Amino acid sequence: MKSAIWAALFFAAMSVTASAFASGWSSNGGGFDDESNNIWFLGEKPVHYCVQVGSDYPLGSALAASMVQESIADWVAFFRARGFDTKSLFRETLKGIWQMPAGKPNKAALSFTADTSCQSDTEIKFLFGVTNDVVESLRSSNDENDLGMAIRKDYDHVTFRNPGIVWLAKFSTDPAKIRHLLLHEIGHVFGMRHDSVPVMDSRVAYHLARPFMPGAFFGKIENAGWPYAMSEGRLEISDTFGSTFDRLFPSGIISNCPAGYFPNAAMPPRVLNQLGFSPSGCHHVTAKVTNPDFTVRQFTFALELEDSVNGNKVLTTGLFTHNRIANISHPGPSVYTLATFASDPSKKARVSLRLDQDPNLFPARGSFAFGGKLHAARISYEKGPMIEIFFPDMAGGVWWPIRNAYDNLDLLD
Ligand SMILES: [Zn+2]
Repeated sequence: MKSAIWAALFFAAMSVTASAFASGWSSNGGGFDDESNNIWFLGEKPVHYCVQVGSDYPLGSALAASMVQESIADWVAFFRARGFDTKSLFRETLKGIWQMPAGKPNKAALSFTADTSCQSDTEIKFLFGVTNDVVESLRSSNDENDLGMAIRKDYDHVTFRNPGIVWLAKFSTDPAKIRHLLLHEIGHVFGMRHDSVPVMDSRVAYHLARPFMPGAFFGKIENAGWPYAMSEGRLEISDTFGSTFDRLFPSGIISNCPAGYFPNAAMPPRVLNQLGFSPSGCHHVTAKVTNPDFTVRQFTFALELEDSVNGNKVLTTGLFTHNRIANISHPGPSVYTLATFASDPSKKARVSLRLDQDPNLFPARGSFAFGGKLHAARISYEKGPMIEIFFPDMAGGVWWPIRNAYDNLDLLD
Protein backbone atom coordinates (compact mmCIF):
# COMPACT_ATOMS: atom_id res chain seq x y z
CA MET A 1 0.00 0.00 0.00
CA LYS A 2 2.74 2.38 1.00
CA SER A 3 4.51 1.53 -2.21
CA ALA A 4 1.42 2.29 -4.28
CA ILE A 5 0.87 5.62 -2.57
CA TRP A 6 4.45 6.64 -3.11
CA ALA A 7 4.30 5.66 -6.73
CA ALA A 8 1.13 7.71 -7.24
CA LEU A 9 2.65 10.68 -5.47
CA PHE A 10 5.76 10.41 -7.54
CA PHE A 11 3.97 10.41 -10.84
CA ALA A 12 1.76 13.33 -9.76
CA ALA A 13 4.49 15.53 -8.32
CA MET A 14 7.92 15.40 -9.90
CA SER A 15 9.45 18.36 -8.06
CA VAL A 16 9.57 17.13 -4.47
CA THR A 17 12.95 16.82 -2.81
CA ALA A 18 15.20 13.86 -3.42
CA SER A 19 15.62 13.16 0.29
CA ALA A 20 11.91 12.51 0.68
CA PHE A 21 11.55 10.23 -2.32
CA ALA A 22 14.88 8.60 -3.02
CA SER A 23 14.44 5.92 -0.40
CA GLY A 24 12.96 2.69 -1.76
CA TRP A 25 13.86 3.45 -5.36
CA SER A 26 16.67 1.44 -6.78
CA SER A 27 18.52 1.02 -10.01
CA ASN A 28 18.85 -2.41 -11.58
CA GLY A 29 22.29 -1.35 -12.70
CA GLY A 30 23.50 -2.45 -9.30
CA GLY A 31 21.68 -5.55 -8.19
CA PHE A 32 22.93 -6.58 -4.78
CA ASP A 33 19.91 -8.17 -3.17
CA ASP A 34 17.78 -11.11 -4.24
CA GLU A 35 14.88 -9.08 -5.60
CA SER A 36 16.87 -6.59 -7.62
CA ASN A 37 16.67 -8.71 -10.78
CA ASN A 38 12.98 -9.58 -10.48
CA ILE A 39 10.78 -9.29 -13.56
CA TRP A 40 8.92 -5.99 -13.08
CA PHE A 41 5.53 -7.01 -14.46
CA LEU A 42 3.71 -10.33 -14.27
CA GLY A 43 0.28 -11.20 -15.63
CA GLU A 44 -1.74 -10.81 -18.79
CA LYS A 45 -2.65 -7.14 -18.36
CA PRO A 46 -0.87 -4.84 -20.83
CA VAL A 47 1.88 -2.67 -19.36
CA HIS A 48 1.20 1.00 -20.09
CA TYR A 49 4.21 3.15 -20.90
CA CYS A 50 4.89 6.70 -22.04
CA VAL A 51 7.86 8.45 -23.64
CA GLN A 52 9.22 11.90 -22.77
CA VAL A 53 12.05 13.44 -24.77
CA GLY A 54 14.06 16.49 -23.72
CA SER A 55 13.96 19.42 -26.15
CA ASP A 56 17.73 19.25 -26.72
CA TYR A 57 17.90 15.44 -26.97
CA PRO A 58 19.59 14.16 -30.18
CA LEU A 59 16.48 12.11 -31.05
CA GLY A 60 13.13 13.63 -31.88
CA SER A 61 10.02 12.44 -30.04
CA ALA A 62 8.78 10.33 -32.93
CA LEU A 63 12.10 8.51 -33.34
CA ALA A 64 12.43 7.95 -29.59
CA ALA A 65 8.88 6.55 -29.43
CA SER A 66 9.49 4.14 -32.31
CA MET A 67 12.82 3.12 -30.77
CA VAL A 68 11.07 2.21 -27.50
CA GLN A 69 8.38 0.28 -29.38
CA GLU A 70 10.96 -1.63 -31.46
CA SER A 71 13.16 -2.42 -28.46
CA ILE A 72 10.22 -3.81 -26.48
CA ALA A 73 9.24 -5.84 -29.56
CA ASP A 74 12.79 -7.23 -29.81
CA TRP A 75 12.65 -8.49 -26.22
CA VAL A 76 9.14 -9.90 -26.63
CA ALA A 77 10.34 -11.78 -29.73
CA PHE A 78 13.35 -13.05 -27.76
CA PHE A 79 11.08 -14.38 -25.00
CA ARG A 80 8.52 -15.85 -27.38
CA ALA A 81 11.30 -17.65 -29.29
CA ARG A 82 12.15 -19.44 -26.03
CA GLY A 83 8.56 -20.19 -25.10
CA PHE A 84 8.61 -17.77 -22.16
CA ASP A 85 5.18 -16.53 -23.22
CA THR A 86 3.69 -19.90 -22.31
CA LYS A 87 6.04 -21.03 -19.53
CA SER A 88 5.18 -20.47 -15.89
CA LEU A 89 7.56 -19.41 -13.17
CA PHE A 90 8.87 -22.46 -11.35
CA ARG A 91 11.86 -23.78 -9.48
CA GLU A 92 13.46 -27.16 -9.86
CA THR A 93 14.95 -28.53 -6.66
CA LEU A 94 16.17 -31.90 -5.56
CA LYS A 95 13.15 -32.38 -3.29
CA GLY A 96 10.34 -31.14 -5.48
CA ILE A 97 8.83 -28.20 -7.25
CA TRP A 98 8.22 -24.77 -5.80
CA GLN A 99 5.64 -22.72 -7.65
CA MET A 100 3.61 -19.54 -7.46
CA PRO A 101 0.57 -20.00 -5.19
CA ALA A 102 -2.70 -20.39 -7.07
CA GLY A 103 -4.16 -17.03 -7.96
CA LYS A 104 -0.85 -15.27 -8.36
CA PRO A 105 0.24 -14.32 -11.88
CA ASN A 106 2.93 -16.74 -12.95
CA LYS A 107 3.90 -15.48 -16.39
CA ALA A 108 5.93 -12.47 -17.44
CA ALA A 109 3.87 -9.65 -18.94
CA LEU A 110 4.71 -9.49 -22.65
CA SER A 111 1.98 -7.09 -23.77
CA PHE A 112 2.80 -3.37 -23.84
CA THR A 113 0.70 -0.35 -24.73
CA ALA A 114 1.98 3.16 -25.44
CA ASP A 115 0.05 6.00 -23.78
CA THR A 116 0.01 9.21 -25.81
CA SER A 117 1.15 11.12 -22.73
CA CYS A 118 2.37 10.19 -19.25
CA GLN A 119 -0.61 9.59 -16.95
CA SER A 120 -0.86 8.78 -13.24
CA ASP A 121 -1.45 5.12 -14.09
CA THR A 122 1.29 4.90 -16.70
CA GLU A 123 3.55 2.09 -15.51
CA ILE A 124 6.86 2.84 -17.24
CA LYS A 125 8.11 6.31 -18.02
CA PHE A 126 10.82 6.37 -20.68
CA LEU A 127 12.79 9.57 -20.11
CA PHE A 128 15.24 10.62 -22.84
CA GLY A 129 17.40 13.42 -21.49
CA VAL A 130 14.65 14.38 -19.04
CA THR A 131 15.64 14.14 -15.42
CA ASN A 132 13.98 14.36 -12.01
CA ASP A 133 14.93 14.07 -8.35
CA VAL A 134 14.74 10.28 -8.25
CA VAL A 135 16.99 9.98 -11.30
CA GLU A 136 19.46 12.51 -9.94
CA SER A 137 19.62 10.82 -6.55
CA LEU A 138 20.57 7.47 -8.14
CA ARG A 139 22.95 8.71 -10.84
CA SER A 140 26.67 8.13 -10.71
CA SER A 141 26.56 5.21 -8.30
CA ASN A 142 28.30 3.34 -11.12
CA ASP A 143 29.36 3.94 -14.74
CA GLU A 144 26.15 2.61 -16.26
CA ASN A 145 24.00 4.79 -14.01
CA ASP A 146 25.61 7.85 -15.45
CA LEU A 147 24.35 6.89 -18.94
CA GLY A 148 21.11 5.07 -18.25
CA MET A 149 19.02 3.39 -15.56
CA ALA A 150 15.99 1.20 -15.07
CA ILE A 151 14.61 2.17 -11.67
CA ARG A 152 11.62 1.07 -9.65
CA LYS A 153 10.40 1.01 -6.06
CA ASP A 154 10.68 -1.87 -3.59
CA TYR A 155 9.21 -4.99 -5.19
CA ASP A 156 5.46 -5.40 -4.83
CA HIS A 157 4.84 -9.10 -4.05
CA VAL A 158 1.06 -8.64 -4.00
CA THR A 159 0.33 -7.05 -7.36
CA PHE A 160 3.53 -8.06 -9.20
CA ARG A 161 3.17 -4.77 -11.07
CA ASN A 162 6.17 -2.54 -10.44
CA PRO A 163 5.99 0.88 -12.05
CA GLY A 164 9.25 2.62 -12.72
CA ILE A 165 11.41 4.74 -14.94
CA VAL A 166 13.75 3.93 -17.80
CA TRP A 167 16.05 6.91 -18.03
CA LEU A 168 18.68 7.67 -20.67
CA ALA A 169 21.17 10.52 -20.37
CA LYS A 170 22.11 12.67 -23.33
CA PHE A 171 25.26 10.60 -23.67
CA SER A 172 25.60 10.19 -27.45
CA THR A 173 24.28 11.55 -30.74
CA ASP A 174 24.55 8.11 -32.33
CA PRO A 175 21.07 6.50 -32.61
CA ALA A 176 22.67 3.02 -32.67
CA LYS A 177 24.30 3.61 -29.27
CA ILE A 178 21.17 5.15 -27.78
CA ARG A 179 19.12 2.18 -28.99
CA HIS A 180 21.65 -0.28 -27.55
CA LEU A 181 21.50 1.27 -24.10
CA LEU A 182 17.70 1.49 -24.31
CA LEU A 183 17.58 -2.24 -25.16
CA HIS A 184 19.85 -2.94 -22.18
CA GLU A 185 17.70 -0.99 -19.72
CA ILE A 186 14.48 -2.60 -21.00
CA GLY A 187 16.22 -5.95 -20.43
CA HIS A 188 16.29 -5.07 -16.71
CA VAL A 189 12.50 -4.50 -16.81
CA PHE A 190 12.14 -8.06 -18.13
CA GLY A 191 14.37 -9.38 -15.34
CA MET A 192 17.37 -10.14 -17.54
CA ARG A 193 20.56 -10.30 -15.53
CA HIS A 194 23.84 -8.66 -16.32
CA ASP A 195 26.03 -10.83 -18.57
CA SER A 196 23.18 -13.15 -19.52
CA VAL A 197 23.32 -11.98 -23.18
CA PRO A 198 25.57 -9.50 -25.03
CA VAL A 199 23.21 -6.54 -24.68
CA MET A 200 23.11 -7.14 -20.91
CA ASP A 201 26.90 -6.88 -20.66
CA SER A 202 27.77 -5.49 -17.24
CA ARG A 203 30.30 -3.29 -19.01
CA VAL A 204 27.79 -1.79 -21.43
CA ALA A 205 28.80 1.77 -20.51
CA TYR A 206 32.44 0.97 -21.17
CA HIS A 207 31.69 -0.48 -24.62
CA LEU A 208 29.42 2.42 -25.55
CA ALA A 209 32.18 4.86 -24.70
CA ARG A 210 34.66 3.25 -27.11
CA PRO A 211 34.74 5.40 -30.24
CA PHE A 212 35.94 2.66 -32.61
CA MET A 213 33.36 0.05 -31.62
CA PRO A 214 31.67 -1.12 -34.84
CA GLY A 215 28.00 -0.34 -35.20
CA ALA A 216 27.35 -4.03 -35.90
CA PHE A 217 27.92 -4.66 -32.20
CA PHE A 218 24.99 -2.50 -31.13
CA GLY A 219 21.27 -3.07 -31.12
CA LYS A 220 21.30 -6.87 -30.79
CA ILE A 221 20.19 -8.87 -27.78
CA GLU A 222 22.41 -11.85 -28.54
CA ASN A 223 24.79 -12.96 -31.29
CA ALA A 224 26.54 -16.03 -32.61
CA GLY A 225 29.58 -15.44 -30.44
CA TRP A 226 27.51 -15.24 -27.27
CA PRO A 227 24.10 -16.90 -27.53
CA TYR A 228 21.66 -16.87 -24.62
CA ALA A 229 22.26 -20.55 -23.95
CA MET A 230 24.00 -23.44 -25.63
CA SER A 231 21.71 -25.65 -27.61
CA GLU A 232 22.22 -29.08 -29.06
CA GLY A 233 23.95 -29.31 -32.41
CA ARG A 234 24.62 -25.61 -32.85
CA LEU A 235 28.15 -24.37 -33.31
CA GLU A 236 29.17 -22.56 -30.17
CA ILE A 237 32.72 -21.61 -30.94
CA SER A 238 33.21 -21.02 -34.61
CA ASP A 239 34.73 -18.97 -37.39
CA THR A 240 31.45 -17.43 -38.46
CA PHE A 241 31.58 -14.50 -36.12
CA GLY A 242 32.11 -11.89 -38.80
CA SER A 243 35.02 -9.92 -40.14
CA THR A 244 33.93 -6.69 -38.48
CA PHE A 245 35.52 -7.92 -35.30
CA ASP A 246 38.91 -8.70 -36.82
CA ARG A 247 40.09 -5.16 -36.48
CA LEU A 248 39.36 -5.25 -32.77
CA PHE A 249 42.33 -7.52 -32.23
CA PRO A 250 45.60 -5.73 -31.52
CA SER A 251 47.07 -4.89 -34.90
CA GLY A 252 49.48 -7.38 -36.43
CA ILE A 253 48.38 -10.44 -34.49
CA ILE A 254 45.47 -11.54 -36.65
CA SER A 255 46.32 -9.76 -39.87
CA ASN A 256 47.84 -12.85 -41.47
CA CYS A 257 44.96 -15.14 -40.54
CA PRO A 258 41.85 -15.80 -42.63
CA ALA A 259 38.62 -14.39 -41.19
CA GLY A 260 37.61 -16.31 -38.09
CA TYR A 261 40.98 -18.02 -37.68
CA PHE A 262 43.11 -17.24 -34.68
CA PRO A 263 46.89 -16.86 -34.65
CA ASN A 264 48.73 -19.97 -33.45
CA ALA A 265 51.24 -17.58 -31.92
CA ALA A 266 48.59 -16.80 -29.32
CA MET A 267 48.45 -20.46 -28.23
CA PRO A 268 50.62 -21.75 -25.39
CA PRO A 269 53.72 -23.44 -26.95
CA ARG A 270 52.94 -26.63 -25.03
CA VAL A 271 49.55 -26.84 -26.77
CA LEU A 272 50.98 -26.08 -30.23
CA ASN A 273 53.50 -28.84 -29.73
CA GLN A 274 50.93 -31.39 -28.57
CA LEU A 275 48.55 -30.64 -31.46
CA GLY A 276 51.34 -30.51 -34.06
CA PHE A 277 50.27 -27.11 -35.33
CA SER A 278 52.60 -24.68 -37.12
CA PRO A 279 53.86 -21.80 -34.96
CA SER A 280 53.37 -19.41 -37.89
CA GLY A 281 49.90 -20.66 -38.81
CA CYS A 282 46.37 -19.94 -37.75
CA HIS A 283 43.81 -22.22 -36.14
CA HIS A 284 40.11 -22.59 -36.33
CA VAL A 285 37.92 -24.08 -33.61
CA THR A 286 34.42 -25.45 -33.71
CA ALA A 287 32.61 -26.97 -30.77
CA LYS A 288 29.14 -28.43 -30.42
CA VAL A 289 27.03 -29.64 -27.53
CA THR A 290 25.52 -33.05 -28.25
CA ASN A 291 23.23 -35.36 -26.25
CA PRO A 292 22.42 -33.05 -23.34
CA ASP A 293 20.75 -34.97 -20.51
CA PHE A 294 19.26 -32.44 -18.13
CA THR A 295 18.18 -35.06 -15.61
CA VAL A 296 21.79 -35.92 -14.80
CA ARG A 297 23.19 -32.63 -16.14
CA GLN A 298 25.58 -34.29 -18.54
CA PHE A 299 26.41 -33.57 -22.16
CA THR A 300 29.03 -34.35 -24.76
CA PHE A 301 31.14 -31.66 -26.33
CA ALA A 302 32.53 -32.29 -29.82
CA LEU A 303 35.63 -30.24 -30.52
CA GLU A 304 37.37 -29.75 -33.87
CA LEU A 305 40.69 -27.93 -34.22
CA GLU A 306 42.21 -27.20 -37.61
CA ASP A 307 45.55 -25.66 -38.61
CA SER A 308 45.41 -23.35 -41.64
CA VAL A 309 49.01 -23.95 -42.72
CA ASN A 310 49.65 -27.69 -42.53
CA GLY A 311 45.99 -28.76 -42.54
CA ASN A 312 46.37 -30.79 -39.36
CA LYS A 313 42.96 -31.56 -37.95
CA VAL A 314 42.21 -32.72 -34.43
CA LEU A 315 38.78 -34.15 -33.64
CA THR A 316 37.86 -35.09 -30.11
CA THR A 317 34.84 -35.43 -27.86
CA GLY A 318 34.51 -35.13 -24.14
CA LEU A 319 31.87 -36.00 -21.60
CA PHE A 320 30.99 -33.11 -19.32
CA THR A 321 29.07 -32.92 -16.07
CA HIS A 322 27.62 -29.82 -14.46
CA ASN A 323 29.59 -28.93 -11.36
CA ARG A 324 27.34 -26.96 -9.12
CA ILE A 325 28.91 -24.13 -7.23
CA ALA A 326 27.00 -22.55 -4.35
CA ASN A 327 24.94 -19.49 -5.22
CA ILE A 328 25.38 -19.74 -8.96
CA SER A 329 22.49 -17.74 -10.34
CA HIS A 330 20.67 -18.81 -13.45
CA PRO A 331 20.90 -16.24 -16.23
CA GLY A 332 17.22 -16.45 -17.13
CA PRO A 333 14.48 -14.10 -15.93
CA SER A 334 13.19 -14.89 -12.47
CA VAL A 335 11.18 -13.62 -9.52
CA TYR A 336 12.35 -13.97 -5.93
CA THR A 337 9.17 -14.25 -3.86
CA LEU A 338 7.05 -16.42 -1.56
CA ALA A 339 6.26 -19.75 -3.21
CA THR A 340 4.46 -22.93 -2.21
CA PHE A 341 5.56 -26.54 -2.46
CA ALA A 342 3.63 -28.22 -5.27
CA SER A 343 2.77 -31.42 -3.41
CA ASP A 344 2.02 -29.65 -0.12
CA PRO A 345 0.65 -26.10 -0.48
CA SER A 346 1.01 -25.50 3.27
CA LYS A 347 4.77 -25.43 2.81
CA LYS A 348 5.92 -21.94 1.86
CA ALA A 349 9.34 -20.48 1.34
CA ARG A 350 11.01 -17.47 -0.25
CA VAL A 351 12.67 -18.81 -3.36
CA SER A 352 13.77 -17.66 -6.78
CA LEU A 353 11.28 -18.82 -9.42
CA ARG A 354 12.44 -18.76 -13.00
CA LEU A 355 11.05 -19.04 -16.49
CA ASP A 356 13.67 -21.40 -17.92
CA GLN A 357 12.55 -25.01 -17.80
CA ASP A 358 15.95 -26.60 -18.37
CA PRO A 359 18.39 -26.72 -15.48
CA ASN A 360 21.65 -24.95 -16.04
CA LEU A 361 24.44 -27.08 -17.55
CA PHE A 362 27.23 -24.67 -16.68
CA PRO A 363 29.82 -24.53 -15.32
CA ALA A 364 30.83 -28.04 -16.30
CA ARG A 365 33.87 -30.25 -15.96
CA GLY A 366 35.04 -33.10 -18.13
CA SER A 367 37.93 -34.14 -20.32
CA PHE A 368 39.06 -34.34 -23.94
CA ALA A 369 41.32 -37.03 -25.38
CA PHE A 370 44.43 -35.92 -27.25
CA GLY A 371 46.93 -38.51 -28.46
CA GLY A 372 45.29 -41.21 -26.36
CA LYS A 373 45.54 -39.23 -23.15
CA LEU A 374 42.71 -37.55 -21.29
CA HIS A 375 43.11 -33.85 -20.69
CA ALA A 376 41.04 -32.19 -17.98
CA ALA A 377 38.70 -29.52 -19.31
CA ARG A 378 36.16 -27.06 -17.98
CA ILE A 379 33.48 -24.95 -19.59
CA SER A 380 32.20 -21.69 -18.19
CA TYR A 381 29.55 -19.36 -19.56
CA GLU A 382 29.87 -15.98 -17.89
CA LYS A 383 29.99 -14.05 -21.19
CA GLY A 384 29.31 -16.76 -23.72
CA PRO A 385 31.02 -20.13 -23.84
CA MET A 386 34.65 -20.55 -22.86
CA ILE A 387 36.44 -23.91 -22.93
CA GLU A 388 39.65 -24.40 -20.99
CA ILE A 389 41.76 -27.51 -21.59
CA PHE A 390 44.69 -28.57 -19.44
CA PHE A 391 47.95 -29.64 -21.08
CA PRO A 392 50.35 -31.10 -18.50
CA ASP A 393 54.09 -30.67 -18.87
CA MET A 394 57.23 -31.04 -16.76
CA ALA A 395 56.67 -27.60 -15.26
CA GLY A 396 53.17 -28.48 -14.09
CA GLY A 397 51.13 -27.69 -17.18
CA VAL A 398 49.08 -24.96 -18.74
CA TRP A 399 45.35 -24.22 -19.20
CA TRP A 400 44.47 -23.28 -22.79
CA PRO A 401 41.39 -21.05 -22.93
CA ILE A 402 39.30 -21.05 -26.13
CA ARG A 403 36.79 -18.22 -26.46
CA ASN A 404 34.75 -16.42 -29.05
CA ALA A 405 35.80 -13.05 -30.38
CA TYR A 406 33.32 -11.25 -28.16
CA ASP A 407 35.39 -11.93 -25.09
CA ASN A 408 38.52 -10.78 -26.86
CA LEU A 409 37.21 -7.23 -26.84
CA ASP A 410 38.82 -7.01 -23.46
CA LEU A 411 42.23 -7.84 -24.93
CA LEU A 412 42.44 -4.23 -26.05
CA ASP A 413 42.73 -2.89 -22.53
ZN1 LIG B 1 22.50 -2.77 -16.55
